[in-house]
Amino acid sequence: MQEELKKRSEVQEQLTWDLSALYQTREEFQQAVDQLKQDVEQFSKKYEGNLSSTSIVLGALTEFESIMTVFQRTNQYAYLPASTDLTNSDYIELSRYMQNVSAELATQLSFFDTELMSVDTNTLDEAAQSEPRLAPYIRHIKKNKDIRLDPAVEKALAQLSPVLSAPESIYDQAKLADMDFGTFTVDGKDYPLSFVLYEDYYAFHPDADIRRAAFDKFSAVLRQYQNVVATTYYTQIQYEKTMATMRGFDSVIDYLLYGQEVDQELYNRQIDIIMSDLAPVMRKYAAHLKEVHSLDKITYADLKIDLDTDYSMPVTIEESKDIVADAVSSLGDDYTDRIMKAYPERWVDFVQNVGKSTGGFCSTTYDTHPYILMSWTNQLSDVYTLIHELGHAGQGILTNENNSILGSTPSLYLIEAPSTFNELLLTDYLQRKSDDPRQERFALTKMISNTYFHNFVTHLLEAAYQREVYRLVDAGKGFDAAKLSELKRGVLEQFWGEDVEINPGAELTWMRQPHYYMGLYPYTYSAGLTIATQAFLKLKEEGQPMVENWLEFLKLGDQKEPVEAAAVAGVDITTSKPLDDTIHYLDETVDRIIALTEQI
Ligand SMILES: [Zn+2]
Repeated sequence: MQEELKKRSEVQEQLTWDLSALYQTREEFQQAVDQLKQDVEQFSKKYEGNLSSTSIVLGALTEFESIMTVFQRTNQYAYLPASTDLTNSDYIELSRYMQNVSAELATQLSFFDTELMSVDTNTLDEAAQSEPRLAPYIRHIKKNKDIRLDPAVEKALAQLSPVLSAPESIYDQAKLADMDFGTFTVDGKDYPLSFVLYEDYYAFHPDADIRRAAFDKFSAVLRQYQNVVATTYYTQIQYEKTMATMRGFDSVIDYLLYGQEVDQELYNRQIDIIMSDLAPVMRKYAAHLKEVHSLDKITYADLKIDLDTDYSMPVTIEESKDIVADAVSSLGDDYTDRIMKAYPERWVDFVQNVGKSTGGFCSTTYDTHPYILMSWTNQLSDVYTLIHELGHAGQGILTNENNSILGSTPSLYLIEAPSTFNELLLTDYLQRKSDDPRQERFALTKMISNTYFHNFVTHLLEAAYQREVYRLVDAGKGFDAAKLSELKRGVLEQFWGEDVEINPGAELTWMRQPHYYMGLYPYTYSAGLTIATQAFLKLKEEGQPMVENWLEFLKLGDQKEPVEAAAVAGVDITTSKPLDDTIHYLDETVDRIIALTEQI
């Protein structure tokens, strides 16, 4: 167990991120917000009802770029502190203040996209041709022309947006504020439990009795809230389905894929092939876990355990510098130097303290460096988290440098490729650095459990379940908690078959992820990782030319739709070959792990 956590006020500043790159002082931030409000008002006055020519459209988009740059920077400054300490009321107040400002500004600006959509296509094309950096934004405007509603309706929807996005916050409140997991007892000893403690600690616990008892208690508490969470989720899905219908889509799935610029073929392929072809590989790995740990059976509650629980590789933050630099060195000095600035410029909040968000994220800002949040625990898995987030950071830097702020965010389909690519570089580094079979096996199992289990299995099974829910709604049917549990259990049983016992509680996994409130996000993890794996294998095979391709891919931003963007990285996602090859690579890796066990 963790020793007692420090308060945020007691931690070493050197291990926290430095937000002064955004604004030096709170006063400076406030001045920027005040100026921003004036600029938005001016902008609306000048352009509302007046987008009548190419030059006016171009002028408006250029001013809009500056507004969005300040908008993003002030948002970063206001939201980042709260993620480091949710017990600090000043931080909460700052983020709520910005939330109100943002809603007000978004409503004032809502005319802009709506009116751009009514500008005739020739004018938009001329604007895109004369300023290619604006082409991605204009591409989306043109696409959205087909699905836009009456301007008054669009405005009403913008005003209602805090209400329409309520399901996710209700879900978060239920999960993070109301659910009380109490304690559980094993052999007369009490253990404290919380949502985060279960997911980050007990799920990996080497003692099967503690691990399984924690799961049972965790599930029992989830079950008490299943009806409120199911109703919240039902509201979310009804909202999405209604929007789909209003905007002219027969299927809510088509509507949700529209913005990703991906069709159902790519979406279904990812789910279907992983469900059928990756399943045997993962079952083989689960069976090996059972054998190595001499377990009576392997249940859903056992899947996260390490293969080699006695082997650990402690790593300090200082030591991580050389590992990261060496791991990404194949991408060249320029990339490495950019990434390594994260340490001296303090982009990363490493420290552990009370009230800090769990997990990790990277938040990029258009005209300053990215910020990364994580909690360093001196384990190798922290280096995986860090290098993953630095992958997002690297893409953010290159994409912002080469694109307008209005065209710098790639399709969701591609978003997890640069991050998982860097995880593969790390595993490769660990393999290169040692000829000890135990360390090699450790690195390979980290790759299976951190990189692939999480992105290819957990999120994909979410996606497979989510598809069933959307199909139900498309067929005009409703659902309750019992139905959701039945669907989730069905997906888990289909994937794990006879090899893993889907013990009671596993069916409640539909209550665990905020992803279900983010449209079709879960499947994109495996899509990104498929591109990353193929690019990584090409890099090993072809060397330098592939480095160039990958760096080009990182610079793309939103210039291309996913199929064309993946082609820049040398990966053809029009067929299932990249996914088939990735599964084959995983199959070989699991075989290698089993062979290494025999050697050890
Ligand atoms: Zn990520």
